[in-house]
Amino acid sequence: MALLGERAVVLGASMAGLVAARVLADFYDSVVVVERDVLPDMPAQRRGVPQGRHVHGLLAGGSCALNTLFPGMLDEMVAAGGHLLDDCDLSRVLMRLGGHDLNLAGPFGKPISGYLASRPFLEAHVRQRVRSLGNISLLDGHDVVELLAAKKDRVDGVRVADRGTRCDQELRADLVVDAMGRGGRTPAFLEALGYARPAEERITVEVAYASQLLRIPAGTLAEKLILVGAVPDRPTGGALFACEHQTWILTLAGLAGNEPPTDRAGMIGFAAEFAPPPMMAALQAAEPLTEVSRYRYPASVRRRYDRMLRFPAGLLVCGDSMCSFNPVYGQGMSIAALEAITLRACLSRGSDDLARRFFKASAKPLSAAWQMASGADLALPQVQGRRSIQTRLANRYTRRLLAAAESDGVVAEAFFRVMHLVDPPSRLLRPDILSRVATAERRKPAVPVVPVTEESTHA
Ligand SMILES: Cc1cc2nc3c(=O)[nH]c(=O)nc-3n(C[C@H](O)[C@H](O)[C@H](O)COP(=O)(O)OP(=O)(O)OC[C@H]3O[C@@H](n4cnc5c(N)ncnc54)[C@H](O)[C@@H]3O)c2cc1C
Repeated sequence: MALLGERAVVLGASMAGLVAARVLADFYDSVVVVERDVLPDMPAQRRGVPQGRHVHGLLAGGSCALNTLFPGMLDEMVAAGGHLLDDCDLSRVLMRLGGHDLNLAGPFGKPISGYLASRPFLEAHVRQRVRSLGNISLLDGHDVVELLAAKKDRVDGVRVADRGTRCDQELRADLVVDAMGRGGRTPAFLEALGYARPAEERITVEVAYASQLLRIPAGTLAEKLILVGAVPDRPTGGALFACEHQTWILTLAGLAGNEPPTDRAGMIGFAAEFAPPPMMAALQAAEPLTEVSRYRYPASVRRRYDRMLRFPAGLLVCGDSMCSFNPVYGQGMSIAALEAITLRACLSRGSDDLARRFFKASAKPLSAAWQMASGADLALPQVQGRRSIQTRLANRYTRRLLAAAESDGVVAEAFFRVMHLVDPPSRLLRPDILSRVATAERRKPAVPVVPVTEESTHA
């Protein structure tokens, strides 16, 4: 691949920064990734990623992208203790959405892979692969202080400060990528340079998480993943995921300010409102391995860099800095990986007009994911926001589709692939799916009629 410059600098060494660095390493002589945390050699929680203590689902679209960027890495993660959900049989997944258990017994028409592990375990595997690339260096323990621009139309570096000594240095760069998460400072920097801030779309969801790592006695649970979403008359839900080395992570979630409790009895009581019997049995038998961690997530935020009329050269924004999704839909890491694939395609056509091309191309998968997540949020009456006719119609159709997916494996598969960012949402409007949704009620297997006998009337 043609070299586009001497040095690229990535700000932030979490998932978005690491996958961006992987791509940039093919186009720049050297890549420096600046991170304020001291990065561990082993899987470990770290301060800059407090969300790592909560369930982190990797969607199938994201695992395909990671497999493209780091061939064989996810299989290595499974060999090291993670889990692979079988390609065509997701019968070990129990997913209750809109109050319906999806029929995932398969066999699926097309294989779809699911990988399960804790967030620090996955991130450590990605980091190890990035570290192994000779032209990438991780400058950890350093704060990003400010972006540098000798002329207003081009960013040409970044000032960083050693967190230990407070000494600062300037890193000159042909390209700087902001992957500092939802607190990323690019909007303020643009303003200081005389540009507009990007327009923001925001949905206030007030999600509260309470999570704990558990040990569950072997044989208690056949499932590897149980996920129950909120419904209009109950804005709470939760998930129980198998993680590496026979551990499990439980996350309880409440929307619109419904906080899950953090004591054991309270958590079990909270889960009892929605959890299916196998999840309850597992929680009763579980042994806690950590304290309970909380996380409060106020609002999903999308910054419309794709709509900016002027943007300096030499700068890109990716990951949560560009769009931070309500975590209950598990989209953030997968979108970051898909953006990295988009970045590669854009760089392979050179660096001219890069920002405009990258933001435009990323907007497509981002819009699909945003539309699904915001639609599901706005289906809950507790979430504030404007419900356009399109949103209301889409939500009405989704309710019927999820009801159909309870018995119809083809509909369940189609929905699963869209939710996992493998297929576009328009897949759910194809005639075969529309007709299955329309006729689902009629096609439902009849409930066996129990003959009324003398005994049954007296039972
Ligand atoms: C509670 C919760 C649960 C989630 N669950 C899921 C899930 O199930 N599935 C999923 O795909 N996604 C999930 N996400 C989203 C996911 O964590 C992010 O989308 C993903 O980490 C990618 O984000 P990022 O790399 O852009 O930013 P972040 O992960 O926020 O990382 C930003 C990085 O930048 C560093 N940094 C910040 N400021 C500076 C600075 N000034 N100087 C130097 N370094 C700096 C930070 O230390 C950090 O390493 C969840 C998020 C939350 C909050």
